[in-house]
Amino acid sequence: MSILDQDQTEAPVDPSRRRFLGRTSLTLAAAIGGVAVAHAQQRSQIHAGEADHSSSNPGPENAALLAENPNSNTPPETDFGDIGPIWYSFDLARKRVEQGGWTHQVTQRELPSSKDIAGVNMRLTAGSFRELHWHTADEWAYMLYGNARVTVLNPDGTIFIDDVSKGDLWFFPAGYPHSIQGLGPDGCEFLLVFDEGNFSEDGTFLVSEWLAHTPDEVIAKNTGLDAAAIAKLPKRELYIFPSDLPGTLAADRAEVGGPSVASKQQYTFKMLSMTPTKTSSGGEVRVVDSHNFPVSKSIAAGLVILKPGAIRELHWHPNASEWQFYLAGKGRMTIFMPSNRARTMDFNANDVGYVPAVAGHYIENTGTEDLIFLELFKADTFQDISLNNWLRRLPAQMVKAHTNLTAAEIRRIPIEKQEVIGR
Ligand code: MN
Ligand code: MN
Repeated sequence: MSILDQDQTEAPVDPSRRRFLGRTSLTLAAAIGGVAVAHAQQRSQIHAGEADHSSSNPGPENAALLAENPNSNTPPETDFGDIGPIWYSFDLARKRVEQGGWTHQVTQRELPSSKDIAGVNMRLTAGSFRELHWHTADEWAYMLYGNARVTVLNPDGTIFIDDVSKGDLWFFPAGYPHSIQGLGPDGCEFLLVFDEGNFSEDGTFLVSEWLAHTPDEVIAKNTGLDAAAIAKLPKRELYIFPSDLPGTLAADRAEVGGPSVASKQQYTFKMLSMTPTKTSSGGEVRVVDSHNFPVSKSIAAGLVILKPGAIRELHWHPNASEWQFYLAGKGRMTIFMPSNRARTMDFNANDVGYVPAVAGHYIENTGTEDLIFLELFKADTFQDISLNNWLRRLPAQMVKAHTNLTAAEIRRIPIEKQEVIGR
């Protein structure tokens, strides 16, 4: 399919939004300028209609949605074709509200491209539990607000109990039974990430349901409980439910047997308060994977803070697709895919982004506040390849042949991977 064929399927755009289309002064934009010349000439013909009455839109429109997504409404002229859905928002997902909190999810059902990872956003009020459960997927979680107590049992019978606060994360392996309880003063809210795109928060193994589906005489034989005690067991799922606040962490740990039954594995990690993996004038990146958090063998994560105007540099990930959660700010991302396709979308707090495996992309802070987001990968290690680093690690003659740049111009490109680049 030619560029022209693809473009004819694209919707008209609002000429008043042309200001979003100008090329920025990104280092790499300059570097690929030579390659882009031929394309730009084609572009100016293809997109001729954008500047005149062709782009008028007299029919209905969702003004609020258009305002949130200027780059989707009127794509940069560098966009071509379609790459499938790369955006969804937890604020569109149906909330399941129970006494004690709520949950909603963005899975492969909501964002069909994301086959490797699903996300759940959950709130527990102070004292309330996410019921004792387990599931087929590994679970990685990031605390967005408040405080919680988590527990997880190892197959060897040792138990891990810890408290987590905003900016902390946990990892629970598939099949390991665990619990989450909101603590004071106002419970918690967190993001759960699972290494199965089709995961459903409504499809976990609940202790209440298992006991409800086991004959009383078997429960009696298994537990030693008498009929009066068994009659008290819940007859349906608890899932999310209110309860009393627990005692101190030290008291809970001591009550269950202290150090002799304590897990040797550490299942929580203080991500936000760790020393940044990378700091620059553009912001900070914190990476947590199996190198510094050994239990997290299937999820690698980056927490990125981008200052206004800064970009997460042009890069790709050789080992996985990327699932993003936006915590704060406003940004845009363009994803490049073969052949000749590129799609730009805007992202706001509580949105989810998706990047197909090995697809080139950048993320730019387009707002006035810090843009904060999580990059998540179904992988044991965080890996990315920087376009800048690639171009600078090659002999200059090779790069010149591909870009028409002089050796002096090539040397302006940062030689080492920056991750984030200030404006
Ligand atoms: Mn779970
Ligand atoms: Mn990335």
